[in-house]
Amino acid sequence: MPEPSDLLRPLLVRAAERAAAFRETVGDRPVAPEVDVERFRRTFGGPLPDKGTDAESVIDELVEMVEPALVASAGPRYFGFVMGGALDSATAADMLTTGWEQVGFNGVTSPASALVEEIVGTWLKDALGLPARASFGIVTGAQGANTGALAAARHRVLKRAGWDVERDGLQGAPRIRIVAGEERHGTIDRSLRLLGFGTGALEPVPTGPNGAVDPNELVRALDAGAEEPTIVCVQAGNVNTGASDDLEVANEAAHRHGAWVHVDGAFGLWAAASPEFEHLVAGREGADSWAVDGHKWLQVPYDTGFVLCADPEAHSLAMSYTAAYLQDDRALRAPSDFVPESSRRSRGFASWAALRELGRAGLVELVERCCSLARRFEEQLAAVDGIMIANQVVLNQVLVGFGDDERTERVIANVQHDGTCWMGGTTWHGDRLMRISVSNWTTTEDDVDRSVEAIRRAMASA
Ligand SMILES: *Cc1c(COP(=O)(O)O)cnc(C)c1O
Repeated sequence: MPEPSDLLRPLLVRAAERAAAFRETVGDRPVAPEVDVERFRRTFGGPLPDKGTDAESVIDELVEMVEPALVASAGPRYFGFVMGGALDSATAADMLTTGWEQVGFNGVTSPASALVEEIVGTWLKDALGLPARASFGIVTGAQGANTGALAAARHRVLKRAGWDVERDGLQGAPRIRIVAGEERHGTIDRSLRLLGFGTGALEPVPTGPNGAVDPNELVRALDAGAEEPTIVCVQAGNVNTGASDDLEVANEAAHRHGAWVHVDGAFGLWAAASPEFEHLVAGREGADSWAVDGHKWLQVPYDTGFVLCADPEAHSLAMSYTAAYLQDDRALRAPSDFVPESSRRSRGFASWAALRELGRAGLVELVERCCSLARRFEEQLAAVDGIMIANQVVLNQVLVGFGDDERTERVIANVQHDGTCWMGGTTWHGDRLMRISVSNWTTTEDDVDRSVEAIRRAMASA
């Protein structure tokens, strides 16, 4: 058997070349693959092989197996869900992260990782206009960020009510009100389940036509709640419309009652980076915690999200643990004190690379370009007979109707089959609609125009 290093170098080069080749051609592939699931299982599945295989063949086999089944979501005409496409530097930094194999637990397991995460946190708060004193953690996405932030909220509101939730749990604890918009993201519900609140604890607040919480209803709900421990979940960037809740009203009404305000800003909080869109998230700095994704609009590879908290003590008391065997270097911030993981990937390197590549100017340009391309979709589609734009396009999300639910479904299916671009469907105010999200840094005006043409073709055969 050769020394591992003899084998690793050519293998990494080969892997990098395959990854690069994929990304170079990702814009030319049919956006969604047609996968013969049974054939895939028959060919590659079955029981674990008895005998091992040399590393080189393993990588060749892996590439052969998965490439035909890959989705071109990193490419310029994937408009489904809200997905970014990793920047070049962030992609390469992520490969380096794998090569370096640093444990991002604390300053002892990797000073480099701890220090770079520190820098990422500082830059992030600066870019988003959040308080410099806020604590932060790099987690797997906004789902993880919502969970971490709501754990910090749970700590603080119960502490104020004289209850130690880390020690005594929720059994027998004072009841906590969870006030959230009825258009909140589904991950909020999952976080509430994981944290032991249950979705039954939710008091949904009605939303207005574009999916933002009705501010009067929010104030009414908060004023009606006596002085029970309360957590308010608001949103920056509705996943259908892009609309943000009124954060100023939420902060004012919630803080009047000692409630905690959490902002789920998975993609919408990036509006803060742009002078043109910053007003959509005005008041964000006055909230108590924030969730924002790296792998959506910041164009960092999966899995990367950020949890930030104006109450570092609540954040770390909710998240950290101490064990006698841990040799902690207190000169350095321990990343794992702010996330639910112990041994963890050093996620900071790729985020650092994305922020460094873009700089402030690049961030502004990225956000504004995506929004302007969303408006281009809106303008071109609105001019087509039989198309209705169903939302007020305030950010990067566009909802499109094609007459009735059945026809809309047929158009969406035709577009997906055509392969030029990919848009998903959604249900909004009872109607089935096509949802377009412009969130990838490589998307151009030409990509929008080609996609509009594909939609017109899909309509003709629907
Ligand atoms: C995408 C999204 C989430 C979940 O983020 P993940 O990164 O998928 O965990 C939560 N909230 C909103 C508003 C989102 O758009």
